[in-house]
Amino acid sequence: MSGRLAEVLARYEPVIGLEVHVQLSTGSKIFCGCSTTYGAPPNTQVCPICLGYPGSLPVLNEGAVELAVTAALALGCTVHERSVFARKNYFYPDLPKGYQISQFDRPLATGGSLEIPPEDGEGGKTVGITRLHLEEDAGKSTHGEEGTLVDFNRCGVPLVEIVSEPDMRTPREAYLYLAALKQTLEYLEVSDCNMEEGSLRCDANVSIRRRGEEPFGVKTEVKNVNSFRFVESALAFEIERQAELLDEGGEVVHETRLWDAVKGEARPMRAKEESHDYRYFPEPDLEPLDVNEAWREEIAADLPELPGARAARFVDEHGLPGYDAGVLTRTRALADYYEAVVERFDDPKEVANWVMGEVLRIANEEGEEVALEPEPRPVPPEDLADLLRLKADGTISGTAAREVLDAMVETGRAPGEIVEEEGLEQVSDEDALAEEIDAVLDAHPDEVAAYRGGKEGLLGFFVGQVMRRTGGSANPQLVNRMLRQRLAE
Ligand code: ADP
Ligand code: MG
Ligand code: ZN
Repeated sequence: MSGRLAEVLARYEPVIGLEVHVQLSTGSKIFCGCSTTYGAPPNTQVCPICLGYPGSLPVLNEGAVELAVTAALALGCTVHERSVFARKNYFYPDLPKGYQISQFDRPLATGGSLEIPPEDGEGGKTVGITRLHLEEDAGKSTHGEEGTLVDFNRCGVPLVEIVSEPDMRTPREAYLYLAALKQTLEYLEVSDCNMEEGSLRCDANVSIRRRGEEPFGVKTEVKNVNSFRFVESALAFEIERQAELLDEGGEVVHETRLWDAVKGEARPMRAKEESHDYRYFPEPDLEPLDVNEAWREEIAADLPELPGARAARFVDEHGLPGYDAGVLTRTRALADYYEAVVERFDDPKEVANWVMGEVLRIANEEGEEVALEPEPRPVPPEDLADLLRLKADGTISGTAAREVLDAMVETGRAPGEIVEEEGLEQVSDEDALAEEIDAVLDAHPDEVAAYRGGKEGLLGFFVGQVMRRTGGSANPQLVNRMLRQRLAE
């Protein structure tokens, strides 16, 4: 946190509410059969419905409704038996119909909440969810030298808008809320939440009030900030700007601002007064959306285990420390991977140490995620289990196990093969070791005398010498025990 922000926060309390648009992972659009695949050539995934030709009729995609209800239930919202679509009218080149189909006074779901985990004294609270509704996306304009180009492929892509209560109090808390929301939606497989592709977009609302004051101040809204870090910076910028205005005896104007990540500032886009009267009309071409109890119950029964519950189960069932459980459940794919290894090698803490340590390190270095699908990465869970078994039964040392893992990643070969070919087995043969130990003791008579005279700290020195002579292949526990015996004679 900057010194300036800290100084402002000492006097003012920010109030933050977020509106998040999330693209639902359906194969086709919300009111027509066009594909939602990202990255197709411009205007190749369009039809009379999503282009809004006169006479075309929208047909609601049930898959989109199911994903929206899934998200709503996971966020603890009340899913209404009946919700209603409305046309939100505004004029913009990327909106061929001249209106966007959304939900207005009767949204799909209301009144939920999301837990945000604590982090250094921030977060650790429940943020209210005001509403969650279905809507369609608009197209995309690019402003270039040729003028403005419009790609309508995104028109009609299904979204949910998730509106939070004004419950957050610092930019960091807003960041933590977004991270928790993204994690939940990814677990649910409701959205891929890919921010680069615009699958998750956030508008950040913020006002400030003097500490100890009751009523909220006038808010501004920063639009379409395309990374969580930028949300944090944009909010910090706005908070400092609003504080400066109030300090000078001025007033905050209720307006929408646009974040410029390059300049690091939020510039006014339009006064809220003008835009506020979006004219909403009921959508005459769509029936009200009915989600009856049976459907809702069916979707509820299919809800996957969410990250918080899964972490709690890892503590309970696998006896992991809370910290480990938190790290291992960060993504659903990582948690699945961890459990796939534990299934095959029943030492949950040892597996946790390896997954959190070596496996995550390797994945990081390779710039990929740990996952089982579409193919297991960075190594198949069976192979990792086999490796840990070789270590557990003393065939290889911990150091050798790390080497073998690197070789597994590089070559894709099984750990047993690598151990054999590289001759990495630990020498656990007592006769072979006894010879090495004798050689070391013979070579260091002074140290032996010193040890026997009471300098027992020299044991480590002898162990080191034996390990060196055996090229690190000796079983260290065994060397330790045998050395103690020999030196006690
Ligand atoms: P608008 O009418 O400007 O769209 P809404 O009442 O729909 O405002 O709220 C939009 C978002 O702004 C919500 O996330 C809400 O929590 C947040 N919000 C509302 N009032 C304030 C305020 N005074 N300060 C900060 N955020 C606010
Ligand atoms: Mg609003
Ligand atoms: Zn279409």
